[in-house]
Amino acid sequence: MKTLILKKNEERRLLAGHLWVYSNEIDIKLSPLKDFTAGEIVEIRTARDKILGIGYINPRTLLSARLLTSDPSTAIDVDFFAKRIKQALLLREMCFTRPFYRLIFSESDLLPGLIVDRFNSTLVVQLNTAGMENLKELIIEALITVVQPKAILLRNNSSIRTTEGLPIYIEVAYGAPEELAALEENEISFNAPIKTGQKTGWFYDQRINRARLIPYIKNKTVLDVFSYCGAFGITAAVNHAKHVTCIDSSEFALEQLRQNAALNNVSDKITTECADAFAALKDLQLAEQLFDVIILDPPAFIKRQKDITTGTEAYLRLHRAAFRVLKPNGILVTTSCSLHLSRDMLLDILRRAMLAEKRQMVVIEQLHQAQDHPVHPAIIETNYLKGFILCVK
Ligand code: SAH
Repeated sequence: MKTLILKKNEERRLLAGHLWVYSNEIDIKLSPLKDFTAGEIVEIRTARDKILGIGYINPRTLLSARLLTSDPSTAIDVDFFAKRIKQALLLREMCFTRPFYRLIFSESDLLPGLIVDRFNSTLVVQLNTAGMENLKELIIEALITVVQPKAILLRNNSSIRTTEGLPIYIEVAYGAPEELAALEENEISFNAPIKTGQKTGWFYDQRINRARLIPYIKNKTVLDVFSYCGAFGITAAVNHAKHVTCIDSSEFALEQLRQNAALNNVSDKITTECADAFAALKDLQLAEQLFDVIILDPPAFIKRQKDITTGTEAYLRLHRAAFRVLKPNGILVTTSCSLHLSRDMLLDILRRAMLAEKRQMVVIEQLHQAQDHPVHPAIIETNYLKGFILCVK
């Protein structure tokens, strides 16, 4: 195993419990990056030759190395992964009674670069780094040993893989996964398009927030913007909303939504519209259509630090457009998964939108990611989902 040597004092982040090493923290005289291959396992040491642990490296990315274990005697083998997966499983089994959840949430489960979503006996895996890609066989074997699934699907098509220099592919790793995976959430049945949908096919991170919506929607008209396959909208319809309008720019997602609505016998309460959210909100305003409850769950408008200004403007425009079609004393459920947009920044955008639209509002609930996306206290990047339920006067 090769050694990766950090510059003087650059061990601080790892000693504080984080798992990341950036390229500028590496002593490239003593351990030149060109000596390493993408995904190679390395021992990480301080400038004073103290061992910090074992990780993997990718010489082509700014985020160069990620720590797998601080114990240098650990072998990175099937047992290593099996142990980590068992720990993650134990936590999920404490939180949930049914086997539908994110089983592995990357850094938070001390498996940086690895995502595993569980749909009962089907696992959907994302290997997001060269290090994890190299360890693919061990990971699949460990998952089979610990979880005993019937099928494992690799959704290796996230954009981060391109940065890592990895190919984009979707592949069956084990068994014969179906096109759709059945799941239950807040006692509602859904099908997730695991092969062709977004990410792993389902957004488990919003589960608790969908449950938090339930008290506010009885006999109400609801607008679900960025609805995807209907997780929020169908939760509202099943829990006695009067009518739900779902907007998404993906016709594929809306087709899946309609099937999920039929599965729950709420098709008559749901209208879908395939459109750009901003254009659709404008049309609703022109048609003078107002809603009792609006849900906004957009994709991340701020993906990188340099998108902050344009992304913030997009969030502002979105909220202003939503306020224009929200009834007085209406409920707004809004969330953001942009890592670079803090909770305070989102609240400030809401304040600006409120003043611009001459409304008043109060936060009645604060939203965050569900238990299967646990936050690691040393890794703020794991704390990405924030949101609010507001009453808008
Ligand atoms: N609310 C969903 C998840 C939303 S993911 C849930 O709870 O499962 C974001 C969704 O926004 C995707 O389905 C994507 O197709 C859609 N989308 C992205 N850009 C859009 C746009 N400009 N207008 C409308 N929908 C958009």
